[in-house]
Amino acid sequence: MKILKYTFEVEINDEIFRDLVKPLVERLEATAVSLFLSENLSTKLATPFVYRPTVPSSGLWSLYGKTATAAEVICNEDNILILQNSRAGGRVRGLFGGLEPEKSSFEATAISRTLIDANHVLSLVSDAVYSSLSKAPPSDEIVNPDSFFFIKESCKTHAAYLRRLKDTSEYKMPSYDDEDLKLSKLLCKKEVQEFIFRIVQSRTLTEANFTQEVSAIDPAESLSNFLLASGFVIREAFVECRQNSQRIARFNSDDVTLDSLMIKCATCGRYYRDERIYSAFVASEKLKNLITSSRWMNVLVTDSLIQSGIPREFIYWNFSFGADEIDIVAFIDTLPWVFELKDREFSVTDAHHFNYRRSVIEPSQAFIVTSRSVSPDAKRVFEEISGRGDVGTILGSSPTLPYPNLIEGLQDLGGVLEKMVDSHFQTKVGAEIKSALGGIDRIISNVVLASVASEQKQRSVGE
Ligand SMILES: [Zn+2]
Repeated sequence: MKILKYTFEVEINDEIFRDLVKPLVERLEATAVSLFLSENLSTKLATPFVYRPTVPSSGLWSLYGKTATAAEVICNEDNILILQNSRAGGRVRGLFGGLEPEKSSFEATAISRTLIDANHVLSLVSDAVYSSLSKAPPSDEIVNPDSFFFIKESCKTHAAYLRRLKDTSEYKMPSYDDEDLKLSKLLCKKEVQEFIFRIVQSRTLTEANFTQEVSAIDPAESLSNFLLASGFVIREAFVECRQNSQRIARFNSDDVTLDSLMIKCATCGRYYRDERIYSAFVASEKLKNLITSSRWMNVLVTDSLIQSGIPREFIYWNFSFGADEIDIVAFIDTLPWVFELKDREFSVTDAHHFNYRRSVIEPSQAFIVTSRSVSPDAKRVFEEISGRGDVGTILGSSPTLPYPNLIEGLQDLGGVLEKMVDSHFQTKVGAEIKSALGGIDRIISNVVLASVASEQKQRSVGE
């Protein structure tokens, strides 16, 4: 499920709301729930049919100081579209005692299989909105699905959220290729991780050492072929002085012809070609980039989020604000989720840093992903701050931060994240549908009452 939301800053009265639902139902070959229900019930009960969208009396909207005036849920096999018209202010006293001006807004939420589909649905809504208002749209992009207007708007909203936290905020967009992803997955195996870390840490690995170490990993041959073919590990030629065994030169390729090279060793005076020449393996820049600051874990978590349906465009890397940094911030249905990643044990110091960082960002969900484990002391810090467990909070203080989601070990990372994202969507989308259909009982009772009323009328005519 992909969710895109957009608030149209337009004045829509209930009559216009009714007018725009019908063309949308036709264009999407969909069913509008309250329209369908009242229409069918009216036909069955032989009462005159008047379409009235639901008018939620409470629900999510009241949380934002808004009063919903009309809502509808439109769905077909591939999409759900939730439309809510609302009024904010009016009866609310403003900051300086005066009445806030009454402001209407019309919010559309599209839930589709792909982000492009959701964007397409919203551009149809946009078209219907401006047609029923007999107004020209503010831009061509807003009604043209190929301009991906609503996806871009969501990205702008996320970027604005991150920038608002601190003036110095910075972030990167995820960047990795298929080979990075393949190696990151391989690094979930402890023995591969140890081997690769050793290649990066030691400046070179002789051919014999490399072969010996890689042979302990299953399947050795495919790993070693992959590392060389993808350019993570490169073979270089080294020249070593025969007198003092110091390395005096290295060449980027093992295919060097030294015969014509008239360079002598400064120590023993031999030509390079007469010194000891051997080839060895070194970590390439590409490999170092992936391993340093555990970027490979960014790749893994990002891939898992994408597999769970989160658009790549909604994922931000290395979000830094001041001296602090969060490895990944992802927006799940407009709400920020943060991820702190460690390819070592997550320590008590890490816990304090993380608590400060999330107190600034106030994410909807916080995750710690470690390839090892979270130390017992770090867990105690989280228990204290969340008021969970036997520890309780310091006398008189209330819990200030929720207990984070801990993912210790990477074997089932994808599965765990997918479950979290799924259950979030079920809860969130479920709540929105429920909120939008909040007044449906009134529609039913009106139609039922109308059937009796028309019977009474017929009877009085007959008398
Ligand atoms: Zn020498």
